[in-house]
Amino acid sequence: MDISDKIRIIEDFPKKGISFKDITTLIRDGEAFKYVINTMADNLKDKNIKYIAAPEARGFILGSAVAYAMGVGFIPIRKPGKLPGETISYEYDLEYGKDELVMHTDAIDIGERVAIVDDLLATGGTVNALAKIVEKAGGIVAAMEFLIELEELNGRELNSEYEINSLVKYN
Ligand code: IMP
Repeated sequence: MDISDKIRIIEDFPKKGISFKDITTLIRDGEAFKYVINTMADNLKDKNIKYIAAPEARGFILGSAVAYAMGVGFIPIRKPGKLPGETISYEYDLEYGKDELVMHTDAIDIGERVAIVDDLLATGGTVNALAKIVEKAGGIVAAMEFLIELEELNGRELNSEYEINSLVKYN
């Protein structure tokens, strides 16, 4: 199934010069959404994965559906101040400034295998921070799954130690 034509491109959002890949047009199409989730779940089978971890907010849409399809648990990774229990965090650099992601400290036990799901791989900073949190908690990052990859931003380079799959690539 060709899903690339379901992704809408909106120029100059959220800032001038950015060509935003909008997945809302894909996920409102039941067949396309199902295809994406089943393909990701299929890529991750046989990897002995215990959890899917995903960042808010678009990562939740895909990640929880993949976890459901695989019959494994889902771990939400959030911005600071949203999770109620004890958390561990990881700070990472953005183009301008810093950002931080947090996870419940007890979400993962030592040696448990986790796959990370998100909508889009750009510079790879977000997913790298997510992987570091999983590892800080003692987990093993078994794979990273993306719907979209912006190849020219070299997200794979920053995450060269991990297996990465993406369904739609842009140059
Ligand atoms: P990175 O950290 O540079 O790899 O950026 C990836 C993060 O930014 C992901 O969590 C995406 O949701 C978000 N992102 C960046 N560009 C886009 C886009 O064009 N469409 C949707 N999300 C984007």
